[in-house]
Amino acid sequence: MLIEDTFSYLNHNQHKNPCFHQPVLVASRDVIADPVRRQGWIDNCWLQEQWASAITPKGFFFCEVAAAFDTVFNGPGGLPVEPGCWRRPLADFADQINRWCQRSGVCLPLPGRRDSEGRDDLTAGNAAELGRLGSPAIAAGRYVVFDPNDFRPDQPGWQPQRYLRPEP
Ligand code: SF4
Repeated sequence: MLIEDTFSYLNHNQHKNPCFHQPVLVASRDVIADPVRRQGWIDNCWLQEQWASAITPKGFFFCEVAAAFDTVFNGPGGLPVEPGCWRRPLADFADQINRWCQRSGVCLPLPGRRDSEGRDDLTAGNAAELGRLGSPAIAAGRYVVFDPNDFRPDQPGWQPQRYLRPEP
């Protein structure tokens, strides 16, 4: 298979084990009104430190969530895919960071939801935009609206990167 000939390491996840994923669509801008405090969470996002950049048919992105959001929210696309694009200065990614981290909840200590539920947690702003874009999941009601008043930043032991874990 071409993909196996191209890459030396593949991390398969067929989602047959219990997975609890961070609520990606709980927008930080809908949860934390203070832009300085919000930016503090974004600047310390565990995913941008520990996970992957991404390439989609629309270009190169500093973060796989930003890449997915650009597709889902019909964004302007990423940077040109070219040798060394992953080493570009941070300033080159400012537009992606400013645009997509505001819509993301990965940087916030929020409880994960079991993937097999087939529902996403999201804030009202993201729900409205996805509805406007014709999201089938929104049309089918496969979502749970997160109330920003329920945000509890103090979550001892929060380890969202350990998404494979037994049922609580
Ligand atoms: S888009 Fe989301 S996951 Fe990616 S760096 Fe920003 S806050 Fe983190």
